[in-house]
Amino acid sequence: MTELVDLRSDTVSRPTEGMRAAMAKAEVGDDVFGDDPTCHALEQRVAEELGHEAAIFTVTGSLANLLAIRSLVPTGGEVICEATAHIVRAELGAHAILAGTTTRTWTAPRGQVDLDAIRVLLAPDSGPYFVSTAAVAVENTHNFGGGSVQSIEVLHKLREETHAAGVALHLDGARLWNAHIATGLPLAEFADLFDTIAVCLSKGLGAPIGSLAVGSADQIAEARVWRKRYGAGWRQAGVLAAAGLYALDHHIDRLADDHANAKAIATLLADAVPGSVDPAEVDTNIVILDLSSTGRTGTEVAEAVRKDGIVLAGGKDRLRLVTHLDVDAAGCKRAAEAIAKTLKVS
Ligand SMILES: *Cc1c(COP(=O)(O)O)cnc(C)c1O
Repeated sequence: MTELVDLRSDTVSRPTEGMRAAMAKAEVGDDVFGDDPTCHALEQRVAEELGHEAAIFTVTGSLANLLAIRSLVPTGGEVICEATAHIVRAELGAHAILAGTTTRTWTAPRGQVDLDAIRVLLAPDSGPYFVSTAAVAVENTHNFGGGSVQSIEVLHKLREETHAAGVALHLDGARLWNAHIATGLPLAEFADLFDTIAVCLSKGLGAPIGSLAVGSADQIAEARVWRKRYGAGWRQAGVLAAAGLYALDHHIDRLADDHANAKAIATLLADAVPGSVDPAEVDTNIVILDLSSTGRTGTEVAEAVRKDGIVLAGGKDRLRLVTHLDVDAAGCKRAAEAIAKTLKVS
């Protein structure tokens, strides 16, 4: 049987042998009582590497975003973000339902920060009639923007302007390590600009579960109360924290391979299906293929290549391919060739 090449997401990678060994021998305690040493070690390490006071380990990135943003935005206040941001497109209304916060959005190509658009939206201290803006949230890399990296210069300007307006900044850094590897900029240079940050260990880093919210000691102490209140306190979670620590030791530099594989997929498909993708816009590990000129749907293409052992998530006129540590260069080439063949036959 040919090996499956699953490019639906970088969340599908399975823990490696080394990671499983680290999990098996993790020292653990009861994290709700605050005595799991491996959770502590992970939280301290991530807070330090991002240059902030404290961090809290959470089951998902959605929960990390929710805990962080609710520490910045009071009930009835608003957070501003890009229209395709994960917090408004893929967290099922959690911020409205569970924290009582509202959103307004700007729209920009590839999910980029648009300073002019944000300036128009910013409305802190709006008084008793309008909603007051408490925070701006930025995604880096931007998932539905095709894994695009935000410009550090623009982020610096955003920090200046929001700071002057008294508005906080949250970073959805589910793939912040990808931005770090793609740019060569230190992680803390991005993280310094934000009041709170969410990062995921379960994306390109390859841990089976786990994210962290990062911020001040007070914010994270409050987040610990809300994590329990949301029913997400956990006990011997050190088994999972050990996977995260292993990922930080072994799976950061190799993200460059995922980026090279994504670029190779885009290059092959740009050639085979002109207009479907611009390889120059593939910054990291995500390739978005625009099928609108082919007359085929993503669902059809995904179905067609399934017989070749290629697993894709199909959409209407788009395909999103995500590279990760369970697919190598040869597998990615096989996937791109299968897609090219299917699209050429039609
Ligand atoms: C994956 C992801 C998250 C968190 O997703 P969970 O499935 O809740 O862990 C948050 N933001 C972005 C941009 C993501 O890609």
